[in-house]
Formats: sequence, structure tokens, C-alpha cells
Amino acid sequence: MATPRGFCAGVDKAIDALAWMVKIFDPPIYCYHEIVHNRPVVEEFRRKGVIFVDSVDSVPAGAPLVLSAHGTSPQIVAQARTAGSVVVDAVCPLVTKVHHEVKTRAARGYDIIYIGHAGHEEVVGTSAIAPAVVHLVQSNADVDALATRLDPRTPVALIAQTTLAESEWRGIMDHVCSRFDNVWTPSRADLCFATTNRQAAVRAVARASDAVVVIGSQNSSNTLSLAQVARDAGCNKVVRINDASELPSGLSGVIGVTAGASAPERLVSEIVEALAPAGPVEEVRVTDEGEYFPPPPELREMLSSLETFLATTFSAGATAGVTASANAPRTLRRHRAPATANPAVSHEPAVPQSPVPPQSLAAPQSVARRVAAG
Ligand code: SF4
Repeated sequence: MATPRGFCAGVDKAIDALAWMVKIFDPPIYCYHEIVHNRPVVEEFRRKGVIFVDSVDSVPAGAPLVLSAHGTSPQIVAQARTAGSVVVDAVCPLVTKVHHEVKTRAARGYDIIYIGHAGHEEVVGTSAIAPAVVHLVQSNADVDALATRLDPRTPVALIAQTTLAESEWRGIMDHVCSRFDNVWTPSRADLCFATTNRQAAVRAVARASDAVVVIGSQNSSNTLSLAQVARDAGCNKVVRINDASELPSGLSGVIGVTAGASAPERLVSEIVEALAPAGPVEEVRVTDEGEYFPPPPELREMLSSLETFLATTFSAGATAGVTASANAPRTLRRHRAPATANPAVSHEPAVPQSPVPPQSLAAPQSVARRVAAG
């Protein structure tokens, strides 16, 4: 078992945000793109009344709308807010960091060479930050083609999709540096901690395995990268599956297991059970992850409104019982600021004014019941 594996802090944040919206509002809740790229996760939300859309034109005015973890173009965000939707942007902060790099470097006159996979939502959103100067490359041949159009002395900023395989990113980066004289790269690479940690773990596992099972969906970039890293590490049999029902027969010897950043741990448990190991399961841990990303600011404001709303609707004792419940999702417990909190020493980002008038919320009894259910 590769460790770390499965959910990262960005995915936790996005899934928690959508789960809260399901509790706060009556269905349907809209989500622009899959909240994360994992089929079982998306199907579970569908069953709870979430409608996934690829265009905000499909969202009725004023409807609750969550934007996916992959990041959304500023034009789409503005369109959604203008249409009066209650918008919660569940973008991962590490994707936002990349958006910021593109914006600031474009403003300073750089051309942007962006290593990524065409069509992936993160790439579409990031490219839209400065479309006139972003050049998407997916191979060294793309870099060569670009070098015939740009002066080699042009200042270029080298940016990357957060979930690429390290070898893919490094190979293209080296080639860019060989073709352009003035290359800026961020001091911390755009490949995120979750990507590099999971790749380091699966690399270690793959070297000792006869076969590697990678759990995650076909459209999950970081999952595909894990499979690539396992192959690069010399494992000849690497299979990517959504769940235990897709486990191929005939796997034998030492089996390595990992999961992409959007795959829930329950799928890992089910797959290990289906593999029915003859001996104890060995965990290969390359590092510990303690990262935590707070909920989106719009949601935090809603949660604050929700507490006030419930407190004025129910007795103080009943409300305390709900919010202190062991079942209450941790976002609410973690983000209830103490009454004595001093904003001057707070590290929390500023929160905009409440976008949610209380009458937009589901009936208070429904909200309380859903919160208590966890
Ligand atoms: S894989 Fe990285 S960029 Fe993507 S959600 Fe997780 S932490 Fe954020």
C-alpha cells in the first residue's frame, strides 16, 4: 500500500463544500464540472440531488452553484455571479496559485509556456486567465513548434498543470530551457505536494511489485500520472480501475496498491479485500501529510449565517446539540470562531458579506436534520 494515497487537502475541501451545500439548500444543487474527477464520488452526489453541468447557461438564475476543484475561468465565475446564482468556488488553493502566476507574469510582459493536457478543466481554466499569451505545450515537439514562432530571447514563464507526472514535466521543462534564453519558473514548482507525494510513494511500491493497481477515474489527471510513474519505475503490469468490480483476474505475486487524489479510501479497502492477500499488507510510507485547506470564503460566511439562523429558530440548547454533535462535519466545528477571537491576529482570509438571505435556505428543520446526520 502506497502512502500517501487517495484524498488530498484540495479534494477534501471541494467535497466538503459540496456536501455542505447539499445540507443547506434543497435540491437541485448545481455543480459546474465534476466536483472532482472520481466516478463513484460524482454518482453519490447525483443521488443526493446534485446536477453537474458543463455550462453555467444551464443553471437557473439564483440557483445554488458550486464550481469544481479544478479552477474556473474568471469569465465563467463572473457570468455565474451576474446571473444571481449563489456561487461557492471550491477551487483548490494550489490551482489558484498557478492562476496568480499566470496573471502576474502576463502583466509583466512574459509569454507563458504552459505544460498541461489539452481539454482538462484545470488547463482550460488556467489558460483563460491570459489567453493571448498562454501557449499550451504537451510535448517537446510542441516546444519546437513554438520556438519557430517566438523570438528565443522572449521572456517566457514556464507554468505547469498541478497533477502532471514528474518525468513528463521535467522532460518538457528541460527542453524549454534549451530552446529559450530567458525562462522564469516559480520557486516552488507548480506540481502540487499531493501529486509529488503520491508519485514518490507509488514509485517505491512499484519497484517491489509484480503488478500495481491504481484506483481512480480515467479523466483524473493525477491518477493517470500515478499509473505512468508506476510504469516508469519498471512495473510491467499496471491497471487503473474505478472500483473492485473492475479488478482483473489473474493478478498474482506482490501487488502494489495506490489511489489518485480524488479516490475515497473506502474504495481502497474494498479493493484490498477483493485482492484477498495471503499475508499481511505492508504499508510503504514516504511522508506524512498534514495539509488542510479551509472551506471557500462564501461557504464560511454561509455556515456562520446558518448557525445564527438555527440559533434563532431553535432553542439555544437544541442548537448546541446539533453543532456539537460528533456527527457534525468538521468544517462547521473547525470554523466556528470563538466569541473572543481577535481579528487583528487572525490568519483567516477575509470573508465577503453574506450572499445567502435566510429565506434561500432549506426549511430549518431540514437543515438541522441534515447537519445532525453528518
Ligand atoms: S491534487 Fe493538488 S492541485 Fe489537485 S486538488 Fe489536490 S492538492 Fe489541489
